[in-house]
Parts: sequence; structure tokens; C-alpha cells
Amino acid sequence: MADVSLTNLHKTFDRTEAVRGVDLDIAENEFLVLVGPSGCGKSTILRMIAGLEDITKGNIEIGGKVVNDIPPKDRNIAMVFQSYALYPHMTVHENMSFGLRLRKYSKDEINKRVLDAAKILSISELLNRRPRQLSGGQRQRVAMGRAIVRNPRVFLFDEPLSNLDAKMRGQMRIEIKKLHQHLKTTIVYVTHDQVEAMTLADRIVVMNDGIIEQVGTPDEMYNAPKTHFVASFIGSPSMNFIPCQLVKTTDGLNIKINDKLSLSVPKDRLDRYKVLASKKAILGIRPEHLTNKKQHTHDMYEDFNAKVKVLEPMGMDTMVFFDLSEAEVCARCDPKSVEKIKSDMAFTIDKSQMHLIDPQTNKVI
Ligand code: ATP
Repeated sequence: MADVSLTNLHKTFDRTEAVRGVDLDIAENEFLVLVGPSGCGKSTILRMIAGLEDITKGNIEIGGKVVNDIPPKDRNIAMVFQSYALYPHMTVHENMSFGLRLRKYSKDEINKRVLDAAKILSISELLNRRPRQLSGGQRQRVAMGRAIVRNPRVFLFDEPLSNLDAKMRGQMRIEIKKLHQHLKTTIVYVTHDQVEAMTLADRIVVMNDGIIEQVGTPDEMYNAPKTHFVASFIGSPSMNFIPCQLVKTTDGLNIKINDKLSLSVPKDRLDRYKVLASKKAILGIRPEHLTNKKQHTHDMYEDFNAKVKVLEPMGMDTMVFFDLSEAEVCARCDPKSVEKIKSDMAFTIDKSQMHLIDPQTNKVI
């Protein structure tokens, strides 16, 4: 049984259709990340699960029970916000225990829960401080502590790391992952950051304009995106998209990129790609599958030359930019094997990793 189920969920604000029919089952103890660009409706979904926003149409079930009309305080969920929403005049202990005091828990029980949560979050020595005496990361831990003490059935996180600098975000990502392993609770986590989604999630939901584009494990989203949007959203640096045309040959199909470069379609993909024969398409390839020329005998690899436009040294790799057809393309190369700007350079493409997109439907074929 799913722990949280969304069925045909809709939300309309005045004339804005923020959520347009979302169906989603979230398993017990699953870490599910909702990711998508600003305005795609992810926070609205979270707020509807929390009960902070009315539902226009559809159903939300938590633990098998429809909660559409149940007030937030009775849903047994806890939400952690981007703005930590701590009370400035209260100590960390008082902030963490506030909800339990309202619910009239005994003093001993409150103390036990606060100390346990503080230990998990490594903030035991901060319990007597006030929020202004804490760093951003510490405040975020207190906000999480306040959620943990409630022992909720479901945790909802709304962009909890957005206010932290890059280094602290990286550290807190690991803390949240450890927290999930420790607490084994269902988590629904909203972010616009695909790196957070990839690193934290058991499953990722990519949203676009109020609908779900794709649901899958991080591996599925990265290696088998189903749409142009998902392919472009997941992965950094992002996938290259190169306009091309599929041309029939005597024994198969070629992906024609320009007059000098045509790639033969591997045999195991001929059946899949024949629907696009003689049509325009978009070739999607990640920078790591486009490298400086390599020794190979495998027919999945093909070589070509292009003129280097920009070099971006990253230390371990150098990103080499060049033009192909009308696209600016990025290849992830060995720093020792790159040519100078404006020189010709030989590249190898790994066709086993390519994606072909139908521009009519924006679906990956
Ligand atoms: P962000 O990452 O910027 O927070 P989001 O994906 O979480 O974006 P939502 O906050 O869910 O997006 O908003 C979805 C759409 O609904 C947006 O077009 C937004 O302007 C609109 N919206 C959200 N809340 C309201 C509201 N209270 N009244 C009117 N429109 C709203």
C-alpha cells in the first residue's frame, strides 16, 4: 500500500492552473523528490499534502485514508520550509519543543524527544542558544529537529537548503540522507536543484507546467529520459541537443548532422528509429559520451573532427565547446588530449549512449 497517494490532483488559483491532474503513489519509507523549474507546481503539491492549500479536484490519501478535509494538524505530517520559520525569542530547545508543548506532552517526554533529535542532528550543545546565535546550517538543523520530535508519518521538505551556501548545501544533503536512513520515514522533498534530486532521491518526479513529465530512479532519469524536457533538466553540464535528419541507406539508417558528418544507426536501434526515417530529429548526447578521440574497435563508437571554440578546464576534465550543425556542443575531454582554441580536434561519440528525440512530440524514441 502506498503511504501517500495523489489521484487526479488539480489546483487552480484564479485563472492559473498550477497543478493539472497529478497521479502519484509514494511508498512507505520512500524518499521522493519533486523537481522542476520555478512555477511548475511542486510547492503547491507539497502544500496540498500538508493541508495548507485546498484541493480544486482529486484526492490525497495518507496511510490509506483520504485526508482532503482533514486539517493540517491532524494529518500526522511535519513540514520543513526554506525559511526556517524559527521563533527568534525562543531557545533552540524551546523552538524544537514548541509543537509538543501545544499538544500537552509531558515534560519528560518532551525532554527525551528533544534530546534524542538534537543528538541525531549533532546540535546537543546548541540547545540553549537563540536562532540569531546560529549559522544558517545550524538553523536548518533546528527546523528539522522541530519536525523530527513530532515523530510524523511523513516529512515534507520545501526547498530546505536554498538559503545555504554551496558548501553547506553539500554537507546538509549528506545529513538529510543520513537522517532518512536513520528515521526510515516517508519523505517528500521539493527542490528546483537537479543535483539535490539526483543525490537524495529513491525516486525523482520531474514536473513541468503542472504535470508530471516522468517518474523514476535517479539512474532511470539520467540514463533513460523519456522526454526532451527531462533529458535537458537532469544532468550537469546538461545534455547536448543536435538537430539532425534521418536518412535511409541501402542497409539501414544514417543520422545526418551536416554534409560532413553522418552517423550510422546501430543495428539494435534500427527498429526503434525507423519511424523517423527521412524526418528531422534531435540527437541528444551527454558531454561524457562525447570525448577526445579514443582508440576503439567497437562499432558503437564513431569519430569526427570539429573546430575548438572554447575550453573550460575543470581540473580532472576539460570541457571542449564546438559547433555542430546549429548547436553549440560540449565534450568532456582528457585535459592532456585537447587542442588549442580555433584548432581542429578529433572527437569520439559513443552511440550506445545517444538519445533520439522526435521534435513533433518532444518524446525520446
Ligand atoms: P518555485 O520553485 O518558484 O517555488 P513551484 O514549482 O513550487 O515554483 P508553485 O509555487 O507551486 O511553483 O506555483 C505554481 C503556479 O501557481 C505558479 O504559476 C504560481 O504563480 C501559482 N501560484 C502559487 N500560489 C499561488 C497563489 N496563492 N495565488 C495565485 N497563484 C499562485
